[in-house]
Amino acid sequence: MTDSITIALSKGRILEETLPLLAEAGIELVDDVKKSRKLVFPTTDPNVRILIIRATDVPTYVQYGAADLGVTGKDVLMEHGGEGLYEPLDLNISRCRLMTAGKKGEQPPTGRIRVATKFVNLARRYYASQGRQADIIKLYGAMELAPILDLADEIVDIVDTGNTLKANGLEPRELIDYISSRLVVNRASMKMKHGQINPIIEKMAVAVERRRSASE
Ligand code: AMP
Repeated sequence: MTDSITIALSKGRILEETLPLLAEAGIELVDDVKKSRKLVFPTTDPNVRILIIRATDVPTYVQYGAADLGVTGKDVLMEHGGEGLYEPLDLNISRCRLMTAGKKGEQPPTGRIRVATKFVNLARRYYASQGRQADIIKLYGAMELAPILDLADEIVDIVDTGNTLKANGLEPRELIDYISSRLVVNRASMKMKHGQINPIIEKMAVAVERRRSASE
């Protein structure tokens, strides 16, 4: 029997960089996602469909089995906690760094620190691991404003080139982790639909490895 497989992706960089990897596993979109307001898309494999959802929702859809597979950033996975998920493959795409940052030329306070971020769980764990007391302030965007307007002493955010920090009078401080996008799989699906999911993982892994050696 052939089960249907649902893959959760998010628009933007992840979608653009994941589609070529899925294509090497024989899975290609039929419609132009950019021109559509639909959220569920058929693929060239009649047993595989793709959901387009918010990146932060991908672990939740996969955790509860609404999607069998998903692709999301390690930052999102660290914030989610990874419960109910296998993380079999680092896709080596959408690479960036998760960092603390503060006002240029300013030292962080020695005592309790105020930290603004959208990654509240991750930030709480990080400051605790450093033995630092932190008040974590949840923001949904424009984290860079928080130190400038004295809402926080520091932010925890994604840094790629560092241009966004610089443009807002901030500088990076500590590296929390290197980030890239990961393939995640629902634990039950991995067992029940092994015969279909395993070849997808294996073919994507070959594509990732080929790209890695080509870029060396
Ligand atoms: P940059 O100015 O190049 O350091 O880019 C910083 C901003 O781009 C961050 O605030 C993020 O919102 C976004 N960004 C850069 N790279 C990524 C990535 N791989 N995944 C998610 N967001 C990213």
